[in-house]
Amino acid sequence: MDNYIVSARKYRPATFQSVVGQKSLTTTLKNAIQNNKLAHAYLFCGPRGVGKTTCARIFAKTINCQHPQPDGEACNECESCRSFNENRSYNIYELDAASNNSVDDIRSLTEQVRIPPQMGRYKVYIIDEVHMLSTAAFNAFLKTLEEPPHHAVFILATTEKHKIIPTILSRCQIYDFSRITINDIVDHLEYVAKSEHVSVEREALNTIAQKADGGMRDALSIFDQVVSFSAGNVTYQSVIDNLNVLDYEYYFRLTAHLLAGEVSQSLLILNEILGKGFDGQHVLTGLANFFRDVLVCKDPQTLVLFEVGDAVKEKYKNLAQQCSDAFLYKAIEWSNDSDLNYRYSKNKRLLLELLLIRLCQLNQQSSPVADKKKITIEPLVPNEQTAPVEQKQTSQVSQASQSSPKTVEEKPLAARPASSGPLAANSPLRRSIKPVSDQPKEKAPETETQNPVLNEAFTQEDLERAWKNYAGKEEDAHLKNTILNISPQLQAGNRIRIAVFNPDQEDKLKSKAEEIKRNLSGQLRNTQIELEILVTEDEKDYVPYGGRDIFKFMAEKNPAIISLAKEFNLKLS
Ligand SMILES: [Zn+2]
Repeated sequence: MDNYIVSARKYRPATFQSVVGQKSLTTTLKNAIQNNKLAHAYLFCGPRGVGKTTCARIFAKTINCQHPQPDGEACNECESCRSFNENRSYNIYELDAASNNSVDDIRSLTEQVRIPPQMGRYKVYIIDEVHMLSTAAFNAFLKTLEEPPHHAVFILATTEKHKIIPTILSRCQIYDFSRITINDIVDHLEYVAKSEHVSVEREALNTIAQKADGGMRDALSIFDQVVSFSAGNVTYQSVIDNLNVLDYEYYFRLTAHLLAGEVSQSLLILNEILGKGFDGQHVLTGLANFFRDVLVCKDPQTLVLFEVGDAVKEKYKNLAQQCSDAFLYKAIEWSNDSDLNYRYSKNKRLLLELLLIRLCQLNQQSSPVADKKKITIEPLVPNEQTAPVEQKQTSQVSQASQSSPKTVEEKPLAARPASSGPLAANSPLRRSIKPVSDQPKEKAPETETQNPVLNEAFTQEDLERAWKNYAGKEEDAHLKNTILNISPQLQAGNRIRIAVFNPDQEDKLKSKAEEIKRNLSGQLRNTQIELEILVTEDEKDYVPYGGRDIFKFMAEKNPAIISLAKEFNLKLS
């Protein structure tokens, strides 16, 4: 292992045949060479490390080969081929436009272009990262590209095709290189490992390939890194340790707890993951991908989209059988939503925890037979507790198949005895769970309104959170925006002042007043709230005048001031 050579260089393909993962493209190139249909300019586009420059070099070698093979490959034996393979050919000229992008650089190139090759038929000019050329350089190059000498072939390579000006695009044959599939990368790494006598676990290579995101060059350099780290024994464990990759075992364990509705265990695993230094966003993205993979494993038809080794595939398949489609759809959707909201969230950890809690509850809805003893925090949208078991099951099943949401959401919220569950009513955890009740409650029929009176205290902060939640359910994007722009103010006596900016908004919100009230009541567990919707022009400019006025103003903003004043027996002079 001492003299380990960088694999990306050592295993650079020398023939079209050996280029990994670009079969159709290399075939087209070979055919063009065989049929003598060469263009003067090619544009190779695609992500980094997928073989653009490698193909350009093979192309240059092949069109100069003195004894081209019947299959369109270079012979790799003639003097020209050898000079190419030994990096001493004068018929290939590479310019990295990322660092040589001035007009002068291009001028010195175009001057060379005029000189015909001493040996062989073509001089090939590879311009890498061609989108980095300055506009002036582009224009200087354009002239050469319009009237190239017969012996000149240009191969322009770019990772950013959209930055190439149309006048250049129209003069090139365009080849789009694709990301290399995980399986192709793994196969190639396995081949390299075998040649280097390095022992590997296929799962380890899979993780490397995923990390490389479709780029072979990156995959090989990561591979080198892991080989030297693990002293030639590349195991899955050594890869995740070395690359700081989140072990999928965590996701398996986590999902098992989510399915069982075990909130506490789920939160503990999250804690463990975060404790290892993984970023929350990373966890969310990983979770969304994980659920996606599980979903893909449900159906033999989509199983091909899942690029892992067989042993792991089996694990995923087993898990897939335990998850309902409804669970997976929601799990993917919610994880993805949380991922999107993560950047804007002020309490990022809570966002993650809420997601897990919701996912725990989700499966409680669809699997009524879940072991009650395991539920450490009762679901917010719980089972109908009074209903007989049989009926419960049928209603749960219809719930799971997403047919009719019935009234399951509204009633249990109220029917739930306040003392049930191991969490005290004012525990911070319970409070944080509150806004989770997610479906809007508008469907509740009128006959259901004999709910017991709820009058839980809530703060301005609770109100704002509930309000945001409510806005999130609004489907009309315009109205949603309006709602989000309003900040409701908690007044004394459970009154909520909703100040809108114009009569039009006032009408809209008033027409929704009942729905808003119902929703907020549910979320805040307070059926005593009153809404006050009014147009304001100067809410923000309102300047209270005098001590009493200021007190009143402040008390309206924060009713706690009244009790504070009472507590300390404060008096206004
Ligand atoms: Zn040759």
